[in-house]
Amino acid sequence: MGWVTEHAPIASEVNTCIQCGLCLPSCPTFRLTGRETASPRGRLTAMAAVVDGFPVDQSFADIMGSCLQCRACEVVCPAFVPFGKTMEAARVEVSAQHHTRGRGVRRLLVGRALRSRRLLRLSALGAWVVQRGRLWFLVPKQLRGGLRGMRRIDARASSIAGTNRSSIGPPRGVAAVLSGCVMDSWFSGVHEATIEVLARAGYDVVVPNAQTCCGALAAHDGWADDARAMAEINVSAFEDADVVVVNSAGCGAHLKEYEHWADEGARVAAVTRDITEVVADAINSRYLPVVDATGGSVAIQDPCHLRHAQRIIEQPRTVLEAAGLTVVEIDVAGQCCGAAGLYSILEPELSGQLGAAKAAQVVAAGQSVVASANPGCEMQLRSHLADQVRVAHPVELYLEALQEAGL
Ligand code: SF4
Ligand code: SF4
Repeated sequence: MGWVTEHAPIASEVNTCIQCGLCLPSCPTFRLTGRETASPRGRLTAMAAVVDGFPVDQSFADIMGSCLQCRACEVVCPAFVPFGKTMEAARVEVSAQHHTRGRGVRRLLVGRALRSRRLLRLSALGAWVVQRGRLWFLVPKQLRGGLRGMRRIDARASSIAGTNRSSIGPPRGVAAVLSGCVMDSWFSGVHEATIEVLARAGYDVVVPNAQTCCGALAAHDGWADDARAMAEINVSAFEDADVVVVNSAGCGAHLKEYEHWADEGARVAAVTRDITEVVADAINSRYLPVVDATGGSVAIQDPCHLRHAQRIIEQPRTVLEAAGLTVVEIDVAGQCCGAAGLYSILEPELSGQLGAAKAAQVVAAGQSVVASANPGCEMQLRSHLADQVRVAHPVELYLEALQEAGL
């Protein structure tokens, strides 16, 4: 039958693979399973086979579905195969051609529910009740592990959408912040730190009310129409922004590729920056201070969508060092923690193995705090570390250090 949608993998990109196998040692699912079909090369071979008549059936869906979309393969590929984009395209075909159980619920969740601030607020209140009353038995088993990794919900926190905050000191630009979906309802502390640090860095901060979820989860799960609709809304909302600041690595990576998802998406993509990029620049340019070394230290975890998709490695380290902390590496290769959007629900076994391995790296580093700049990674780390180690965003740690130093 071949491909049936306009979003299908592009043959010239799939065929760019020269089958060299250099990506295999970097691929977490290949390392765990040893299966060629769980490797980047195997997945590309399966995509090429569809053009030759291989059906988009359960077997094809499984081969695509076991991919974390971590993009570790992209970084090492000598042929520059755009694997992330190609995998998103293959997932669109799976959604269009192979109708599995639970498909409608998945679409409702990532394509629709994440757009609703009201539903997200309700989810936060529900999680608050569960956390306060320790009512974990009320949560479906598949969600329990992930939800145990949630921060303590602040029931009083409201959406940051509509916020206008003036710069502290002479303004040097306007920063528009992506409020996001779960970031807005479950991670209010990261948003508060982001806005405060941006104001201290000399930005007037705005959070356009008309924005919505970035659409990354919908795109990763193959719901192209929903992902496109969300991208179009955000492109309009950020029409006048000089810089769009994102404090979730997964969302930032997606906005930086909006040229694939919205007619005017390239403009927003060009001005999108991760918060650690903006803060590190402000530190290097002396718009933000450096705290004297405190003698403290912090472990660092690199989210795949920061390290592999956005190629941001130094900036979070700069931010943590400016907080007076010594940064302790846990994994120089930056292997995926296994959270990966819906992966912990859809592929619990592989996700659990990767999460346990990442938690073991953190514990081996011997630190009481680990910094992570992505909500999914943060939840995965916390659910595997329990209360052994605090997990926080680098910008939260930087702001705490400024406040403790009286700066
Ligand atoms: S490294 Fe790139 S070219 Fe080589 S097998 Fe992997 S995807 Fe193909
Ligand atoms: S995106 Fe990650 S899991 Fe998927 S093939 Fe590439 S390295 Fe493997």
